[in-house]
Amino acid sequence: MATQNSPLLELKDVGHSYVLDSGQKLKVIQDISLSLMPHESLVVLGPSGSGKSTLLRILAGLIEPTQGDAYLRGKPLESTNPEVAMVFQHSALLPWFNVQENISMGLRSQRLPESEVRERVKRAIDLVGLEGFEEAYPRELSGGMKQRVGLARAIVMERPILCLDEPFSALDVLAAEGLRKEVLNLWLSRKTSIESLVLITHNIIEAASIGSRILVLGSSPGQIKISFKNDLPYPRDERSAAFKSLVDDIHDVITEAIIPDTPEWVPPALSANITEAVPPVPLNEMIGLLEIISGQGGKAEAFTLAQKLMKDSVQILLMAKAAELLDLVDTPKNAIILTDMGRRFVASDINGRKKMFHEQLRHLKVTKLLERLLESQEELTLSWDDCIQSIQEWLPNENPEQVLDTLITWGRYGEVFGYNDDTKMVYLDRGQEVS
Ligand code: ADP
Ligand code: MG
Repeated sequence: MATQNSPLLELKDVGHSYVLDSGQKLKVIQDISLSLMPHESLVVLGPSGSGKSTLLRILAGLIEPTQGDAYLRGKPLESTNPEVAMVFQHSALLPWFNVQENISMGLRSQRLPESEVRERVKRAIDLVGLEGFEEAYPRELSGGMKQRVGLARAIVMERPILCLDEPFSALDVLAAEGLRKEVLNLWLSRKTSIESLVLITHNIIEAASIGSRILVLGSSPGQIKISFKNDLPYPRDERSAAFKSLVDDIHDVITEAIIPDTPEWVPPALSANITEAVPPVPLNEMIGLLEIISGQGGKAEAFTLAQKLMKDSVQILLMAKAAELLDLVDTPKNAIILTDMGRRFVASDINGRKKMFHEQLRHLKVTKLLERLLESQEELTLSWDDCIQSIQEWLPNENPEQVLDTLITWGRYGEVFGYNDDTKMVYLDRGQEVS
């Protein structure tokens, strides 16, 4: 029997690897041990690609970890977790069903009396504020309303554990704020079966306002960097000093995880050999960020910048990391400072920028490796799949498709690589050798 002090869910030394189409393994999480206690709201915070969804799917029993074990109330979890209800980032609603029908879908398979189904659906609709929309079809609903349907669909299952995978991240700021408050109230009010929450997010404020415990994941492979206990009373006042200080602490950990000031020690003989992955950031946004930083005197603080731009601070940090790899910025502590090169880059016209980008990109180890690989081919071209194979060898802990995608986007801009969508071939851009 589970008591107040025994965990609802537990993971012990869990790791997970996916087998890619190439046959190679991609290790996405490693050595994860955690427990979800009764009446707890556990938030897992981490950059995209750090294995958060994988972790949640393991807790829900949707996938079996390739290492370690998952437990439900002390017993090994061997199939879909019967005590978990899920909410996803995009609630895949069936377009030909109306709101009520979509909400009742999960109950249909349970062969409950029709009157009970109706009763439970009505209650769920009331709880999430969808009264009046019972007959509406998904196409008539805003993103926020669709997510409410997704939430109702989970509540109606009347399960003790609610798992939410970035449920607010596709919504606009106001809709996200509203729904976040409601999820918190549903849990706190104890009007539902929900005893404990597991929320996946990459938003620090969200983590701090909802989590009674916050786990920060680092990536490649995803591992728990730190766990914060958060005893601030609900509802939390985001303007209070205690809240701000918690947010600062979490932010420091994440910053250190993404753009470390003290890189892990590497023997000097090896350090020249380290291959760094290119962070998967949109190039135009990264350049936009450099322009904004330049506009405020060449220096910005990552978190303040994120708030000002209403962007996710993790995304800003990844862009900073990308720019740092190219020597366009320095990132001491939380600051992002344009280097001389960065200043010249921003001041240049498009051709000047491309030329500098070309040079900087070619300094990266991973670019050199791909260049060498392509040079060794007869026609200076190699299939996408073969490139993936090699990238997997160079960067065994990264997602090779994402790395190649980013390399090609950057390579096109810097005229280093190109990709032919029809032939699916990656080629070396020798069209106009930049002198
Ligand atoms: P997050 O939710 O933190 O963004 P995910 O758990 O979705 O992370 O993914 C972690 C990594 O695993 C990513 O690089 C992703 O591309 C890869 N991945 C996720 N699902 C699969 C799958 N079914 N097969 C292969 N790779 C996968
Ligand atoms: Mg995810």
